[in-house]
Amino acid sequence: MPKALVKKVKHCRVCEGKNLKRFLSLGNMPSVNNFLTAYQLNKPEHKFPLNVCYCGNCGMVELEEVVSPKYMFTNYVYISSFSKTMLGHFEDLALSLIKRFKLDSDTLVVEVGSNDGTLLKFFKTAGVPVLGIDPAKNLVKVANDAGIETWGDFFSAKLSKRVVKDKGLASVIIGTNVFAHIDNLDDVLRGLDIALSEDGVFVVEFPYLLNLVEGLQFDTIYHEHLSYFALKPLMHLFSRFGFEMFDVQRIPVHGGSIRIFVGRSKAKRTPSKSLKELLDLEENVGLYDLRTLKKFASGVKTIKKDLRRLLIALRKSGKRVAGFGAPAKGNILLNYCEIDNRLLSYVTDNIPYKQGLYTPGTHLQVFPEEKIIKDKPDYLLLLPWNFKDEILNKLTDFRRAGGRIIVPVPRVEVI
Ligand code: ZN
Repeated sequence: MPKALVKKVKHCRVCEGKNLKRFLSLGNMPSVNNFLTAYQLNKPEHKFPLNVCYCGNCGMVELEEVVSPKYMFTNYVYISSFSKTMLGHFEDLALSLIKRFKLDSDTLVVEVGSNDGTLLKFFKTAGVPVLGIDPAKNLVKVANDAGIETWGDFFSAKLSKRVVKDKGLASVIIGTNVFAHIDNLDDVLRGLDIALSEDGVFVVEFPYLLNLVEGLQFDTIYHEHLSYFALKPLMHLFSRFGFEMFDVQRIPVHGGSIRIFVGRSKAKRTPSKSLKELLDLEENVGLYDLRTLKKFASGVKTIKKDLRRLLIALRKSGKRVAGFGAPAKGNILLNYCEIDNRLLSYVTDNIPYKQGLYTPGTHLQVFPEEKIIKDKPDYLLLLPWNFKDEILNKLTDFRRAGGRIIVPVPRVEVI
């Protein structure tokens, strides 16, 4: 393993405490978005340890190792606009923020990790000026070509100064599914302090630790996701920089996420009822108790055991099983459960970038979804289980013809 690409975390990212306790180890994992060409299959593959720990000081859950962001994010393959569920979600988000915070042509919306510009497009259409920031060069080009001004960079205090100089202060800064990717949160908070107007709002969405733990969503743990947030540790983080959370919404995307609203403490907003309720819920379900996290870890081992047992039985009885979808999380599941071409024939995905390539670590070839129609496998292992309803609809014909679907999370189930 190349040492320069990975570093061990020395202290908690949120409180800087050193009381970190490991509760889950998923073994050595490749970078989940690093799909391979046929040529690369015979070359050594980078793998990095994937261990999760709990901060005994502030309750934060985070990875023990950080893989270099330059290695992971400069050619990112997750494209927002390829999922119908996400398109609808982004449209709702944009329209609700425009209404709630009275955004118009005199305000500025900045999105951190703006991907291909899918979310910002909805603001722009409504006449609100926008700026996207994303380090993935391939996506920056797609966004700019579509008329969404996007800078190819990581969000930081330094970058914020440039934003203010060129565009003025932002009324709203948004980050969806990006906050967990950031190692240096202090620098982001300093950046917010620079770029956000006095009564500006930081809106962040991320998969919620409570859903992760309750839903045994271990496959959402990967190197790109350095942090697994709940409310209490975040309050700690924001208060260090003169910010505070004033509202929270639970949202159904990515297996259960939350959207938090953060403003300057001096704006003195009244915290919402839902914020207080969710903080109480976190305490009541034992989210800050190491025993809860250890129970989660043992549930993860059960999924591996059950899924392998099922796939081995299917192979023995001559059934053909393919993977449906090749999302990042699927690569965690496949690698952790040691599912390679002896148990799964191939995987399919509708993102053209991935087609013809091979899954990292497990080396399954990625085909377009149409392959299923011609090939008629007996079973499909559903890897993007967070889009289960959307996909089950799409697979109506497959199921009518007798095809079965294996859902691996939160428990192995055949439907
Ligand atoms: Zn901490």
